[in-house]
Amino acid sequence: MEMILREGLAALGLRADEAQIGTLAAYGERLTQANRVMNLTAIREPDEAARLHFLDSAALLTLADFAGKSVVDVGSGAGFPGVPLRVLRPDIRLTVIDSVGKKMDFVRDSCAALGLGDVTCLWGRAEELTELRESFDIAVSRAVAELPLLAELCLPLVKVGGLFLAMKKPDCDGEAARGGFAVRTLGGRVREIKRYTVPGTDVAHALVVVEKVKPTPAQYPRRWAQIRKKPLLG
Ligand code: SAM
Repeated sequence: MEMILREGLAALGLRADEAQIGTLAAYGERLTQANRVMNLTAIREPDEAARLHFLDSAALLTLADFAGKSVVDVGSGAGFPGVPLRVLRPDIRLTVIDSVGKKMDFVRDSCAALGLGDVTCLWGRAEELTELRESFDIAVSRAVAELPLLAELCLPLVKVGGLFLAMKKPDCDGEAARGGFAVRTLGGRVREIKRYTVPGTDVAHALVVVEKVKPTPAQYPRRWAQIRKKPLLG
């Protein structure tokens, strides 16, 4: 795993010292072990995890400026993309949120064991954590929901002037268009869609970059049942 990470990060143009590579690999090892006894992620093979979890997450650092930012990872699961971002950029203040307690337990325990004790791990639904409203520079999210719904989970957490970064499949133009009304309603503006290839693979991914241009109206986010039943589709 170390070699794949080393080569992949170099291919992305990202600097990582041996301690950071070691921390990522140790996190990967914990993930492999934990996956044997609980269903944390469908990717179980370490080399595949190196590419499709760690390098895919790291690629975000080449697509937006994370320097010194407060970052929330919504629906982080086993810690992706948030934890690799924090390992590679120790100046990020990271909060990860997931609605499944055992996933947050894994991330919390692993971070504590690997010297990442400043990562805040919250077990809960993003739309219910109202105390976090408009308190992050950047919200990131991967594989959680379609953009019209995801925007309502993420944009309320972002400060005006901040970014919401949605990791998507490359054919996401239709989804981005469908999400346009929700994004605008919640105070955002789709700035662009950036595309990238995960190093060492032919896997193409996209990043929908949304700017928060004004505050989210007080009636959002709604309860999940409402978000799902009546997504903001215009
Ligand atoms: N982001 C991780 C990744 O890419 O490996 C996990 C993706 S997993 C398919 C989706 C995760 O989103 C699940 O762990 C689920 O518990 C979480 N989730 C779904 N809705 C959520 C919500 N409203 N608030 C917090 N977490 C949520």
